[in-house]
Parts: sequence; structure tokens; C-alpha cells
Amino acid sequence: MKKSAADIWEDLRNQVDFLAEVGAGFALRPAEDEGRGEPSAAPSLPSLAGRPAPTAAERKALEELDRQVLVCRLCALHKLRTHAVPGEGNRSAELMFIGEAPGRDEDAQGRPFIGRAGQLLRKIIAAMKFREDEVYITNIVKCRPPDNRVPHSEEEEACSPYLVRQIELIRPRVIVTLGKTPTDYFVPGREGMTARRGHFGDYRGVPVMPTFHPSYLVRNEGNRELKRMVWEDMQKVMALVGRK
Ligand code: SF4
Repeated sequence: MKKSAADIWEDLRNQVDFLAEVGAGFALRPAEDEGRGEPSAAPSLPSLAGRPAPTAAERKALEELDRQVLVCRLCALHKLRTHAVPGEGNRSAELMFIGEAPGRDEDAQGRPFIGRAGQLLRKIIAAMKFREDEVYITNIVKCRPPDNRVPHSEEEEACSPYLVRQIELIRPRVIVTLGKTPTDYFVPGREGMTARRGHFGDYRGVPVMPTFHPSYLVRNEGNRELKRMVWEDMQKVMALVGRK
């Protein structure tokens, strides 16, 4: 779908806003890797040249998957939801962002990442020189847990096959996990997010970059260091997909 001039302007404004927040001078420099060397999974990263685009049948399967999510009753979260939120974006996206679960705004509108944290994520995407319709955004759990609590393990277990199938059908070149819940699922580790962010993991040959959830940045609004770290992580993703 072609973007209007207003949408393009909005993307540019978001890009400039976020770069200004992290400090443009820093933002335009390649990130250092804190003396820890290259990401541990880097030597085994798959060739980025040979990713086959999803077929028409796979795109159709993804649409069908969305429909299944919308009426799903596999876990107790279906009783409390207004809308299930399958995800949105490009069905052959190079870049996939995966958060934890829908929040209040997302539940009300059936779209992922549209509240304050979502607006920040969309600024980050624009700063990465991606249009929103080039990436895919979703969550590990598709219905809102009450009071935005962390999803229970049985809810994650029931819902994660939808996400796994989305990844199989979209076949992104890179996955970005936002916060601890999706990071634990894709690249399990005992360290906290501060230690794990910024280092590529691997999920079935797809590089996975863990970073902080935008809602954590929103809750710590005055902490420019957190934003700087997220931007550092995203620069590594941009370098991997050739957007730097
Ligand atoms: S959270 Fe996932 S598994 Fe649970 S009802 Fe919603 S779509 Fe189904």
C-alpha cells in the first residue's frame, strides 16, 4: 500500500524525534560492543542473501492464522479480552519485533503497540530507516493479561505456537525481542536484560537481538542511557540488514 505524503512526513518526524532523544551525534556512530567481542551467534548467522520470499500459499496461511487467533479460546485470557491481537505489518518482513502481550489500548483496538510504548517503538522503527509497513510487529501472547501482568507459563505455552508459525511463514532476517518475556522464550539465559541486550542470539538460524521493552523506557522517561542502549542494539540490527 502506497503511503500518503502525510504518512511519510510522520515517519520522518518520528525518525528525527528519536534520533534527537538519543543524541544524534551518538546515533550516527557505529556501536561498540562493550569489549565483549562480536555476538556469540555471529559466526553461525545464516546467509542473508538466500531468504526465500513467502509464497502466495504461505501469505494465505498467515491470514488464516490471524483469523484463528481472533477466535482462539486455548487459554483463559480469551475470557477477558476485548480483541485478540495477532500482529500487523508486512507479511514478508525482513525485521520482526516481538513484545510480551497486548496492553489496554491494544486490547481495545486489536492492534499491537499503539499506546505510549507503541508510539516510542514506532519512532525507533522510523529512526532505523524502516517504514512501519516494512516490518512486522507482534507479541508472544496475543490476548491481554489482566492488569498487564506478565503472562503465565501456561498462557505462553498455549499461545506461542501461533508466534512460531508466524515466524515460519514470514521468515524474517532478524527478530528483535522486546523485554524479558520474549527474550526468555527465544534466547533463554539466566542474566538480566541489561547483560543480555545487545548480543545476538539465534532462533533456528534467525538472528535474535534482545533489547529493552519500550514500556520500560517510557516508565524511565528521564533515563537517556536506556534509550542510548536500545539505539545501540538497533544499530547492530541495521548493520545486519544493510540499513546503515
Ligand atoms: S492468549 Fe493466545 S492462546 Fe490464549 S486465548 Fe488468546 S490467542 Fe488463544
